[in-house]
Amino acid sequence: MEIGSNFIKNIMKEDLETGKHDTVITRFPPEPNGYLHIGHAKSIFINFGLADEFGGKTNLRFDDTNPLKEDIEYVNSIKEDVEWLGYEWENLLFASDYFEEMYNRAVLLIKKGLAYVDDLSADEIREYRGTLTEPGKESPYRTRSIEENLQLFEAMRNGEFGNGEKVLRAKIDMASPNINLRDPVIYRIAHATHHNTGDQWCIYPMYAFAHPLEDAMEGVTHSLCTTEFEDQRPLYDWVVRECEMESTPQQIEFGRLNITNTVMSKRKLKLLVDEKYVDGWDDPRMPTISGLRRKGVTPEAIRNFCMELGISKGSGAVDSAMLDHFVREDLKLKAPRTMGVLNPLKVVITNYPEGQVEMLDAEINPENPEMGIRQIPFSREIYIEQEDFMENPPKKYFRLFPGNEVRLKHAYFIKCEEIIKDEEGNVIELHCTYDKETKSGSGFTGRKVKGTLHWVEASQAIPAEFRLFEPLITDENEEMEEGKTFLDYVNPNSLEVIQGFIEPNMKDVKPQDKFQFFRHGYFNVDPKYTTPEKPVFNRIVSLKSSFKL
Ligand code: ATP
Ligand code: MG
Ligand code: MG
Repeated sequence: MEIGSNFIKNIMKEDLETGKHDTVITRFPPEPNGYLHIGHAKSIFINFGLADEFGGKTNLRFDDTNPLKEDIEYVNSIKEDVEWLGYEWENLLFASDYFEEMYNRAVLLIKKGLAYVDDLSADEIREYRGTLTEPGKESPYRTRSIEENLQLFEAMRNGEFGNGEKVLRAKIDMASPNINLRDPVIYRIAHATHHNTGDQWCIYPMYAFAHPLEDAMEGVTHSLCTTEFEDQRPLYDWVVRECEMESTPQQIEFGRLNITNTVMSKRKLKLLVDEKYVDGWDDPRMPTISGLRRKGVTPEAIRNFCMELGISKGSGAVDSAMLDHFVREDLKLKAPRTMGVLNPLKVVITNYPEGQVEMLDAEINPENPEMGIRQIPFSREIYIEQEDFMENPPKKYFRLFPGNEVRLKHAYFIKCEEIIKDEEGNVIELHCTYDKETKSGSGFTGRKVKGTLHWVEASQAIPAEFRLFEPLITDENEEMEEGKTFLDYVNPNSLEVIQGFIEPNMKDVKPQDKFQFFRHGYFNVDPKYTTPEKPVFNRIVSLKSSFKL
């Protein structure tokens, strides 16, 4: 499937037609300071997808210019996630491999009189920068000689100053209406060990300086980023031009993906992990790629979701139900059907012979008959769902109640004859009778029943854990009250853990296997908590959807 017509594709097409470029080269440039989230998937989809449509190439480049927050754990998880999403990068690159070259370009700027070492503190620099309505003020160090700047910059590199004592700034225009052009800091001092370059450097380039250089050094033709960077574009072009880069990448912005009832920023996601609101970056409630994978969302569903989002400048919040829709679409024909009882209630079928077990045939997926047939045992004792029985049902309750008859999926009609209660009056068991004539598949048409229940045979049922999820964030977006942070909106009921039973033919399920449990929805075998004795199932999505494309 092709990505629908959009403004970025049009620019690429035109650049190839006019001969501005003879190929399309893009990059996906994550900073390894956290795990990737579904927003990154959109960027991956756009970068890899568009380059691919023009027979071009995409690099995976780690934008690792801030040693304080970066870690090899993140590098590894990002590689795994991009591959899992189904994309193959042309080159695996690290911005930190270009530190020497970036340093040389900074020296070039100094020599051209376009950069200077500043002794102002970070606070002072901010103060001097001015505001939207007020021009900035020049630093007293702005007029340092080229010689002095060269010498000081080298001393910075040699570790002669402490963190924050000096910075290197581009000398552009302190009165520019674009605040990004008011002598942005392009190098800072950070005595910190870098995951790639170790202790080789104690000065690090700032994003706004490093990013355009990285793009240009790699021959990136179209540098795609989100719209927050629109105001940075003049600086991007300035850096490429004044650093005399041979290749001139073009920055193009698209709208950031936001999803309802979740947060989507590595900083916030890291806080949820660090403060133990969730069980790691791959907690199934997280919007991270690893969380979605562990929950059971498929790469196909994520790619189709991104395809449907399309590419535009807009960034309104997308309903999370839209991703659910694509999960159902993808799993409909792939996932085997099975039955699981989440909150069991024992049923004894009093007229079924004691000690007898019969095997019943059940289709594995009625929508995909090629998947064949599974066998499920049936006997005198089974479990049904507690909520499928009511002693005093309201009108239009078609499930089990005293005297009522229902169909057991793949088995027989049963009729509720007697309720067994404990001393406190809780229903602990039902006594029912079955009608042999009503066996599923026998062609019985004698009478009709309205309810069909799922069940599992009691003696062979496998204990299983089910994990159901609700959105992690309760508030319907934005509108945060004063003084509150998103942590005040974490949903305390986002995880429900339930102990139940599954069919015995499920005894060999493996982590990441996916099933549709009759009436409960699609589930994934959790890779972290599943043991040989007891599988744990994460609900990916329920069956019902009010979502319409
Ligand atoms: P975050 O704010 O979550 O930390 P980031 O932009 O700082 O994200 P990077 O690692 O710098 O994270 O992102 C790599 C690429 O992914 C960038 O090009 C960025 O624009 C893009 N990206 C990040 N978040 C989104 C999003 N929500 N929607 C679309 N693209 C995104
Ligand atoms: Mg970033
Ligand atoms: Mg960020």
